[in-house]
Amino acid sequence: MMNEKVRALLNQQINKEFYSAYLYLDFSNYFKANNLDGFANWYMIQAQEERDHALLFYQYLQNNNQDVTLDAIAKPEFTAAEHMDVLKAGLAHEEYVTSLINDIYAEAYANKDFRTMQFLDWFVKEQGEEETNANDLIAKMELFGSDPRSLYLLNQELGTRVYTAPSLVL
Ligand code: MG
Repeated sequence: MMNEKVRALLNQQINKEFYSAYLYLDFSNYFKANNLDGFANWYMIQAQEERDHALLFYQYLQNNNQDVTLDAIAKPEFTAAEHMDVLKAGLAHEEYVTSLINDIYAEAYANKDFRTMQFLDWFVKEQGEEETNANDLIAKMELFGSDPRSLYLLNQELGTRVYTAPSLVL
């Protein structure tokens, strides 16, 4: 039997991951409106990955015969005076999601819920990659973003990103 606090946190994470998808979809929307289709593509794929994360939490609870309740997804909130602000909002969001995953892990650990810890191991690694990706993007934007020709090339590079399904299969 799963501890109720652990279950509730896993359930809440479904909503948090869908919110992440929604936020990145809005980032994609922002870049599309600014004629940077490569950036829009990059964040669209990010949104797809977050939807996948949400479904993994959903499936994990289902597989363990736990109740799932679906809550309203909040309106995505970010402000951008310049393109870099969007990238930085993305990094801040990933750092927040890392803290959420860590909180669930801590609760699973406190309850000796080793199955949930094993499930979460993939997300711990994934969050490391997400933060690295967000940092890399900021670094590239710092190098190239202020020069229109370089921004054009970076936009082309980001346009080549393709979606791949998550490596975690439940
Ligand atoms: Mg995620």
